[in-house]
Amino acid sequence: MRFRSLSDLERQKPKEVILATLPQEISITPYAKEKAFKISELVREIHDESYEWYGFTLADKDNPELITDIGLPRNAQNLQEYATIGPEGIAEYHDSLAGDTVINGWIHSHGALHYMHFSHTDEENHATVLDFVTARLRETVAKKEIPIQDLRLLVKDEFEEEDLEQGSVSLITDAVVSESILMETIYGGFSYSIVIGDEGWHEQEIHYKERGAISGHSHVSKKSADLVLIDNGRSLTQADINVLSEEVEEKIQPNTNPPTEIIERM
Ligand SMILES: [Zn+2]
Repeated sequence: MRFRSLSDLERQKPKEVILATLPQEISITPYAKEKAFKISELVREIHDESYEWYGFTLADKDNPELITDIGLPRNAQNLQEYATIGPEGIAEYHDSLAGDTVINGWIHSHGALHYMHFSHTDEENHATVLDFVTARLRETVAKKEIPIQDLRLLVKDEFEEEDLEQGSVSLITDAVVSESILMETIYGGFSYSIVIGDEGWHEQEIHYKERGAISGHSHVSKKSADLVLIDNGRSLTQADINVLSEEVEEKIQPNTNPPTEIIERM
C-alpha cells in the first residue's frame, strides 16, 4: 500500500469518541471506612491475634462508584499472611446481597504486617474480582472506529453471491454509498482494591476493563487512587459493632495449622 502524503497516513488513526469516564478516585463513606478498620480491631480482640481477612466493597446499584458498606463473606482460610478469593466465593456472596446492592471491589487487611503494598497473591485476586464486577457493572465509555481494510460496499438485491468472495467485510445497504465508517461500542467497567493495616495505613488501586462490542478486543489497566470521603450521614453505632462482632467470630476462621500446599505458596 502506498500513501500519497503524510495526511493520508494520519487518517489511518481510528476515530474515537469518549462518552463516559470511569472513576479516577475511590469514593467511600465514613461509615464504610470506619467499619473496615473496626473489622481488623475485632479480629484481634476475638481471635487474640492479627489475621489477614478480606471483604467486598459494596455500593447502591444506582450509584456504583460510592462505597457505602463493607461486606464480610465467610473467609475460606485466614492465616497471618495469606487470604485468597475464588470466583465461586464472590458469586455466592453476591447472591446473598439485597437486590439493590452491588459489589464494586474488594478490601483486605495485611493485619500487623508492615508490608504496605499489594502482593503477588493480591494481583490474582484483583483479576478475579475485576472479572466478576465488570461482568455486571459496565457502561458505554466510548465509540471507536473499527479500521477495515478492503471494505466492500454492496447494494441490497443488486449483488451476486460471488461479490461476497471479495473483501474482508461486506456492508450491504439499501442505497448506493461511497464511504462508510464502522464504530463499535466500547464497554468499560472498574473494580476497586483497598488494602489496610492494623496501624491505620491504607493503599488503593482502581482496576479497569474495556471491551469492544464487535471486535471483542479487551484491555485491562490499573492506577493508584486516593480515597475520598463522602458523608452520607450514616455512622458506625454500637449496635452495628455488636452485629459485626458476631460476624467476625463466625466468618473469620484462623487457621494456624495450614495444609502443606498453602505453606509452599507462602
Ligand atoms: Zn495483600
